[in-house]
Amino acid sequence: MSKFAKLGLEENLLKAIQDMGFETPSEVQEKAIPILLEKDTDIVSLAQTGTGKTAAFGFPMLQKINIESRTTQGLILSPTRELCLQITNEIKNYGKYCKGLNVVAVYGGASITDQARDIKKGAQIIVATPGRMKDMIGRRMIDISKIEYCVLDEADEMLNMGFYEDITEILSYSPDDKSTWLFSATMPKEVATIAKKFMYNPIEITVGGKNMGAENVSHEYYLVNARDRYQALKRLADANPSIFSVIFCRTKRDTQKVAELLIEDGYSAAALHGDLSQNQRDLVMKSFRSRQIQMLVATDVAARGIDVDDITHVINYQLSDEIETYTHRSGRTGRAGKTGISMVIASKSESRKIHAIEKIIQKKFIHKEVPSGIEICEVQLFHLANKIKQTEINHDIDTYLPNINEVLEAFSKEELIKKVFSVEFTRFYNYYKKAKNLNVNAGDMSEGSKDTVRYFINIGGKDDFDWMSLKDFLKEMLGLDKDELYKVDVKESFSFFNTDSKHQELVMDFFKEFELEGRRVSVEISKDTGRGRRGGRDRGRGRDHGGFKGRGGERRGNKTSSGRGGGKRDSRRGEDGKKEGGRNDHSRRDSGNSGFKGRSRRKSERPNNSGTGGRRRNRN
Ligand code: ADP
Ligand code: MG
Repeated sequence: MSKFAKLGLEENLLKAIQDMGFETPSEVQEKAIPILLEKDTDIVSLAQTGTGKTAAFGFPMLQKINIESRTTQGLILSPTRELCLQITNEIKNYGKYCKGLNVVAVYGGASITDQARDIKKGAQIIVATPGRMKDMIGRRMIDISKIEYCVLDEADEMLNMGFYEDITEILSYSPDDKSTWLFSATMPKEVATIAKKFMYNPIEITVGGKNMGAENVSHEYYLVNARDRYQALKRLADANPSIFSVIFCRTKRDTQKVAELLIEDGYSAAALHGDLSQNQRDLVMKSFRSRQIQMLVATDVAARGIDVDDITHVINYQLSDEIETYTHRSGRTGRAGKTGISMVIASKSESRKIHAIEKIIQKKFIHKEVPSGIEICEVQLFHLANKIKQTEINHDIDTYLPNINEVLEAFSKEELIKKVFSVEFTRFYNYYKKAKNLNVNAGDMSEGSKDTVRYFINIGGKDDFDWMSLKDFLKEMLGLDKDELYKVDVKESFSFFNTDSKHQELVMDFFKEFELEGRRVSVEISKDTGRGRRGGRDRGRGRDHGGFKGRGGERRGNKTSSGRGGGKRDSRRGEDGKKEGGRNDHSRRDSGNSGFKGRSRRKSERPNNSGTGGRRRNRN
């Protein structure tokens, strides 16, 4: 007997469950289903998003209604059109072996007459948003006077959205002896009020506060200046070439703006918010589900409860004012046993919120560094290499091969590889090679984000340098102007100096293999100003990769060092002895195969489009 059978579900439902691949009931299902099957009772069920609530009420409802009858017996109210459609589909799926079942979705923005006609055919179950439902009851297009079960799904959200009055009115047309099943992620007092007003002696169940995916979601934050948010977002996306993500903004306007910028910069992105027409929203969701859109930029309301599988990253472009919202956001990923990452792009002033959220989710955030331009180039290079490796050969090309061979005859394999990569990669590299460090040091907000980099160099007084002669020496070596190199600070056996961040690559590249009178001169990026420098500087400088070296943050004195993308690196990073936590995990996911299709074009176009940076247009 399957675990679902033990809950008391019938054969035709069990068959559907098997088809869907559900093996074990979730906690809310285990608790709610037997109660709802056995008793005609009201119920208040508190469970986070992603805990499987739809099935918890859907299966009992399907089992209890009389499918032979055409009377409307079940009503499910949900806050948004997207959820309404999602639930409708889900219930249809659950009931696919229930012959004669008719489930109809009722929501605003679509033809009311079509919906009325579908209902007239006899809908045993109606799934509705409150506004349209009220409308249709008012026009006598729907009769709910005989319903036996009424579900208030995402009750907290419906109340947030101001549906209290609509719900009250709708319920006034329903019989008193129906059962009301209320589902909510949180229990604010408005929900308690509803429960009190509309329900009779409800059984309460609470599910351990855990999202089904919660275990699988790691939480990261990136500290940047507020004005660098967009750049940081782009880097996070570029450092994760297979990203399939929802990006949350605070307002509709920001949502729209960020989506537009991403699109201009060549990403497959789209906005989802309440100002779009219903039709547009449908299209967006359709493209997202089918992976034509990789980055869905959404408001909280529009994305509430959206259940799309395999979302790899949730990105909090801005945190919401209500920290509880974070749970809903991060619950969009790590679903159905998959792993996911929830990232927060935070300004220093938001770090307090991070701690508050940690209390709520009972998990620690990992402070990560926004990847450097070079790091991203590395990731992209290896992504490209893997893509080439996995690409199936198109044999239609065979006929042209002799001619192509002739053109390329002169090149060795190695040269060809370099050329292929250059075709795809040069613009990307050029865009990123001078990219500045976007990270704001947690303890050093005002200073840390200035466009300057401080270096440690292992020569000093004992090598007969004073600050002036060292400055001259460095200037000359690096070809920099006198005001491009400053804050030269010479100690006995080492020194410090600064340049603008844009020269960081130059400096680091120059000193990669530099020797002075037979001694290796090494330069490191430093955040401390001479105090607290640590030994072992030469560890882990891995120089085995053709000149691209990730480095941002290695000596930054931050708690987390910046690892880098590209699963290949993991072992070498390991030698560094750094505690890396999630970073490596997520790089590994990058090389997953979820999103290779149709991407190369986008990638090669983007740096070009974005050459001047996404922030160039400061409209609205
Ligand atoms: P909630 O309404 O609590 O946010 P959903 O009902 O949308 O959650 O379910 C989240 C996802 O989990 C859906 O994709 C659903 O198909 C899946 N799911 C639900 N129950 C199970 C189960 N017992 N086993 C595996 N997956 C499940
Ligand atoms: Mg739900």
